[in-house]
Amino acid sequence: MEPGKKRDYYEVLGVARTATADEIKKAYRRLAMQYHPDRNQGDKGAEQKFKEISEAYEVLCDENKRRQYDQYGHDGLRSTFGPGGFDFSRDFTHVSDLQDLFGSLFGENGSVFDDLFGGGRRSSRNGPQQGADLRFDLEIDFEEAIFGSQREITLPITEQCATCSGSGSEPGSSEGTCRQCGGRGAVVASSGFFQVRQTCPACGGRGKVITKPCRDCRGTGRQKQKRRIALRIPAGVETGSRLRLAGRGEGGVRGGPAGDLYVILHVKPHALFQREGNDLFCEIPVAFHIAALGGEVEVPTLDGFARLKIEAGVENGRVFRLRGKGVPSVEGYGAGDLNVRISIEVPAHLNSRQKKALKEFSDLCAPENYPQTAKLRVQGEGFLRAKEELLQAKSKS
Ligand SMILES: [Zn+2]
Ligand SMILES: [Zn+2]
Repeated sequence: MEPGKKRDYYEVLGVARTATADEIKKAYRRLAMQYHPDRNQGDKGAEQKFKEISEAYEVLCDENKRRQYDQYGHDGLRSTFGPGGFDFSRDFTHVSDLQDLFGSLFGENGSVFDDLFGGGRRSSRNGPQQGADLRFDLEIDFEEAIFGSQREITLPITEQCATCSGSGSEPGSSEGTCRQCGGRGAVVASSGFFQVRQTCPACGGRGKVITKPCRDCRGTGRQKQKRRIALRIPAGVETGSRLRLAGRGEGGVRGGPAGDLYVILHVKPHALFQREGNDLFCEIPVAFHIAALGGEVEVPTLDGFARLKIEAGVENGRVFRLRGKGVPSVEGYGAGDLNVRISIEVPAHLNSRQKKALKEFSDLCAPENYPQTAKLRVQGEGFLRAKEELLQAKSKS
């Protein structure tokens, strides 16, 4: 589907833009029951609809994706799904939200659902199999998340066996006819609500089975190898960002395609900056004489120190927002803000001259110089007076 023709995700699920996560999940489950391919066999419209609601759910049930979508619409999600757009079997990561709805039918060998979306991903032990998708969790520094980086990771990955080219049969040996299906490659079985003609689970539809397993891989067709993988971490990623390396997962079996590798990023906390979406937060100390007299302080930002004007008498904890000084958007438009919270610093290690000066200053102070202290005094006295009046009234009655 072309991006221009895409419907609004909220409209697809029939929920308000303000819907809670729970409302979104409920709406999706209801629609999924209605349009699930196993319940609408042969109905291409239902299949299309199922993909559409699943795509909408994938985005709206994820806080980050939902925010991207709310801000930038479908354009904001260009990097989320593959170049061909949303692909259920690859991009839908909430299968577990559906499992209890569809029970054993869901993802069962030979289910219509699998034929449409899984492409035989979970097929039998003997047929061609797609290699498993792999997940690798990678911890990166705050700086790498902001500015991007190049990394190399080493993974033990199960790949196609070189000895038998992944066939699982000892080179030179021939395969025998499958006994379960008599070489036809299919059996009729009941699966959940339906009677379906299934791919033979014993031979995976090939009609043949291995008679002499390859010695190097013991018939599995695969071997574990250490593989070095170069990673490009784009600027602006955050914890939970997912890099997909298509075809870099486990090798396929007996001619099946390789799985994908997903690298999930985890950003280490930083001493100076905290991050929320593309906004940054930091706390900076302001010397108490600057807070009293006004002046300028230096604030660290992603591109150097910036000067921040402090007016005389600024209160502790005040937050200043530096627009556009946050994290540049991973999509390339705009940047978040830098929120600077000031914390008034009391001077330490005073020498005798400084102490003397401060003593002179304090002798010159009047209640109006410390309005909060004066206010507390008034409130405290008011409270005690009220108490006194109550007690007097009580003793008179
Ligand atoms: Zn082998
Ligand atoms: Zn068979």
